[in-house]
Amino acid sequence: MRRQRGGSATVSAAGPVADALTLEGVSREYRRGTVALHPVDLTVPRGRLLAVMGPSGSGKSTLLQCAAGLDRPTAGTVRIGGTELASLKETALTRLRRERIGFVFQAHNLVPSLSVAENVALPLLLGGAPPDGRAARALAAVGLGERGEDRPAELSGGQAQRVAIARALVTEPDIVFADEPTGALDPATAQDVLALLRQAVDRDGHTVVMVTHDPVAAAWADQALFLARGRTVGWLDRPGADEVRRVMRDLGRDAGEGTQLAVREEGWGA
Ligand code: ADP
Ligand code: MG
Repeated sequence: MRRQRGGSATVSAAGPVADALTLEGVSREYRRGTVALHPVDLTVPRGRLLAVMGPSGSGKSTLLQCAAGLDRPTAGTVRIGGTELASLKETALTRLRRERIGFVFQAHNLVPSLSVAENVALPLLLGGAPPDGRAARALAAVGLGERGEDRPAELSGGQAQRVAIARALVTEPDIVFADEPTGALDPATAQDVLALLRQAVDRDGHTVVMVTHDPVAAAWADQALFLARGRTVGWLDRPGADEVRRVMRDLGRDAGEGTQLAVREEGWGA
């Protein structure tokens, strides 16, 4: 089931290629001093699948939202494909989110009144792109090339999530963020969706950051990052489900400061 990771393409004929995502000292404090995220450093090279794990309330969604330009961090720098988000005005940020970031949520968030093909094409249409073959190709790539005329309500949960993945990939984004993409699926369907994300990375060179609390899902990643109480507490390379389960159990037992876990202290690019 596992595959060999392709080489990380950091240099092309055109010169060095920026990492898909870089966070430097990114923190998020809410009003009244709630620190949802203590300063975190994180680099995700292109062509990787990162799992972000941690107990409920550990800051996973906060990290994802800051990284994806949906929330502004209190401090620190976020770069998507080399572009610093803080340097962008609201309209440019909106455009970057639409064209260079793909999103997959737990609920697939398809528009019920649009056809499957129209849903996939939506990020292109919103950007004013003329109709072309990209949506059809993206739909075919997730194995649903024949379902373009259907409405989302006619699809199973797993199929709808595949459409959501096609929509996330249609613009060939720098990075795809997925927040519990298998959280609403049965285990067999979840495996299909994870295999699809894995294929997007291995076959097509996409980059995915996936928040999950499921050790089986994390085992599809190249690397797992663990958060506890808003802090990065460690990393695992090529995580196995049992290993991840053990770390999560330790985190659940004592998420306090100074927790010693059998994980590395640094991730990629450290
Ligand atoms: P996770 O996704 O790991 O469950 P979150 O990132 O959603 O965790 O939340 C991290 C912490 O930040 C939690 O303590 C949560 O209560 C707090 N938090 C999240 N969003 C807000 C908000 N808008 N205002 C205040 N506190 C928040
Ligand atoms: Mg969350």
